[in-house]
Amino acid sequence: MPTPKAPFNVRSDVRPVVTMSQKNWDEIMYLVRKAPKEVLWYSLIDVDRSPANAPPGFVVYHVSEIFIPKQRCGNKEVETPDGQSLNDLWQDAAGGDQKKAVDLVNRGGCWAHSHVEMPVTPSDQDKKQWAEIHEGVSKKNNKTVQIMMIVNRNEEYTLVLWDPIVGLEWENPPFVIDSPWDMSWIDTAIKTKLSIMKGDSSSLVTPSTATGLSNLPVTSGGHSSSGGNSEPVGFVFTTLERPARA
Ligand SMILES: [Zn+2]
Repeated sequence: MPTPKAPFNVRSDVRPVVTMSQKNWDEIMYLVRKAPKEVLWYSLIDVDRSPANAPPGFVVYHVSEIFIPKQRCGNKEVETPDGQSLNDLWQDAAGGDQKKAVDLVNRGGCWAHSHVEMPVTPSDQDKKQWAEIHEGVSKKNNKTVQIMMIVNRNEEYTLVLWDPIVGLEWENPPFVIDSPWDMSWIDTAIKTKLSIMKGDSSSLVTPSTATGLSNLPVTSGGHSSSGGNSEPVGFVFTTLERPARA
């Protein structure tokens, strides 16, 4: 019997990055904190397989907008809409425009819900639902990217991304919130205007302004990482909307 020296491992050339605007993330947090119980919503996913400025291999999955279907909410679960009510959701959102409705169905692969104050670990019901989504998409000719997102009121999240084109599923890939604020002038001010008083050891607990900043998982252009899981991705996303500078 051949015996492997190490467990099965997959290394992929594809490096997924999920992005969302600060506005959408704030809206999600607002919804999750205001909703009396668990709440469910859908978002759109736009895939960029050759993002500008990014080294080869990076694929950006930009999640945007929030669509809230009519739903019955509980403390520990929320009823996922059946095919018909989901169809109604996209039809309503498209305002009767059939072409737009089809576009929303194709892009609306982000299935999201809250766990209120509870851990964001997928429940058995969540796993079952996710398996059904897999099965449904696998049968289609037009296979589109799917996301399962679970968040709670403490801004914790679980994000599972399945790209049927690549044939891979990732759990908690780098998730970048696109902050529209340009903080680089503050970095410059900290570097050039702030110095530590001689003999003041109390400041030692703060990150050193001389070396600390470059180690933060923040890319230039105001993009910051939202979570502890995100390694620095090292390039600026240009797929996101950006307010005009005053
Ligand atoms: Zn759940």
